Amino acid sequence: MSIRLRLTLWYVGVLTAILIVFSAVVYTFLSFSLLDEVDRTLRDRATQVGAGIVAQNDPLTVLRTGLIDLPELDVFSTPALYIQVIRGDGSVARRSQNLGNQRLPLDTDLLAVNLNGQPAIKTIVLESGVRLRMVSVPISVGERVVGAVQVGQPLTNVDAVLQRVLVLLMGGTIVTVIVAGGVGFLMSWLALRPIDRITQTAGRIAHAQDLSRRLPVPKTDDEVGRLVSTFNAMLERLDRLFQAQQRLGADVSHELRTPLTTIRGNVDLLRRGAADDPVERAVALDAIEGEVDRMSRLVADLLLLAQAEAGIKLEKQPVELDTLILQVYRQAQLMSATRFPTGERVAIHLGHEDQAIIEGDPDRLKQLLLNLIDNALKYTPPGGHVTISLYHDQDWVRVSVEDTGVGIPPDVLPHIFDRFYRAQREGRKGVGLGLSIARWIAEAHGGNLTVESQVGKGTTFTLWLPTATE
Ligand code: ADP
Repeated sequence: MSIRLRLTLWYVGVLTAILIVFSAVVYTFLSFSLLDEVDRTLRDRATQVGAGIVAQNDPLTVLRTGLIDLPELDVFSTPALYIQVIRGDGSVARRSQNLGNQRLPLDTDLLAVNLNGQPAIKTIVLESGVRLRMVSVPISVGERVVGAVQVGQPLTNVDAVLQRVLVLLMGGTIVTVIVAGGVGFLMSWLALRPIDRITQTAGRIAHAQDLSRRLPVPKTDDEVGRLVSTFNAMLERLDRLFQAQQRLGADVSHELRTPLTTIRGNVDLLRRGAADDPVERAVALDAIEGEVDRMSRLVADLLLLAQAEAGIKLEKQPVELDTLILQVYRQAQLMSATRFPTGERVAIHLGHEDQAIIEGDPDRLKQLLLNLIDNALKYTPPGGHVTISLYHDQDWVRVSVEDTGVGIPPDVLPHIFDRFYRAQREGRKGVGLGLSIARWIAEAHGGNLTVESQVGKGTTFTLWLPTATE
């Protein structure tokens, strides 16, 4: 069952229940009030007639002769009000003229109550179906009940009024429920229409497998608007993940293809006779070894990124950063010497150096810094400088690697931490994983890796690490 129908049914159901209870209360209250009004008139008349009889008769005479002098009843009656006086045995002693030859029905219950000296009131249903309200008040002489005054009124008018009110209440309830049901359904249809549109668009996106599509955001900032925004944000994220996955596959195969081609070429060369010439053989084997190294590095980097994604935690221990920086510095000098075997080199310096102990994984931190230095050496021409510094502030320990190299253009800067991103494609200097791994290592230590750069002047990478707590 659709939400629309369910909402409407609930709404109509609750409304119907409320209207029925309301109608029942109104109807009951009205019928009690009308009957009470009739009863009061009947009781007044009976009391008046009774008082007249008592005033007109001497009790002693009545007791002695058994005869009662009765007043003229028509003075008290109206066309719709019947009065009769009965004797103790139920026979009629006098009746108002509007009764003609008839009498008010003899009711044994009423008579029995009267003979006990109590007034009584009752609704009697006549043979014609008309309801008759009747009051019967005893006439007592001394202790003895000698008869009763009975006043009756047909409830025809009261019943007609009640009937009309009942029709009105029922009709009103039915009409209201129908109208409210229609309006309720229309309103829930209008309110839920945007959801239908979302479902359709989402269906189209799923069908076309096009994650770049977005749902139109409604102008209203309501529940549906928020749902659409959340849905779009989810699509955005899925789209990015999906593209990243596709790119990763393409990049990895691309990166592997080049070294494989080089290896195959050199193996062919060796087969075709290069193996016999010691110089050619050494060149070919060097090339093969270089490419194998490159592939090993790529695979190791990919493995590390996969572990990072799987959420594998680092093995942390207290690390003396100043000592670690010294080791990195020495290795950096070796790297510079290897990279620039002849002529001018890039000079490596130790800048500011505080003492600092942090909680971390020394191997990964060393890998991070060597990555930064490797980049600095790659992008700094001979004669330039690379400076490593360590600052210990109150909350943070900062390690900066500053070079005087080519710098990074501002439009490139936001992308350098992306996987497989390389600004300088030519020269095949790297695979573009170094900085994304470096940033992951920094974040896994609760820190960060930031960069500042000026084209032509140089670049500074800063590693931020939280100081160790006790
Ligand atoms: P790569 O393997 O290409 O070095 P990285 O992730 O380490 O990959 O770096 C991504 C890109 O950032 C590089 O291709 C380069 O364009 C830029 N880059 C990184 N470090 C420096 C630097 N010190 N100076 C200039 N550009 C840099």
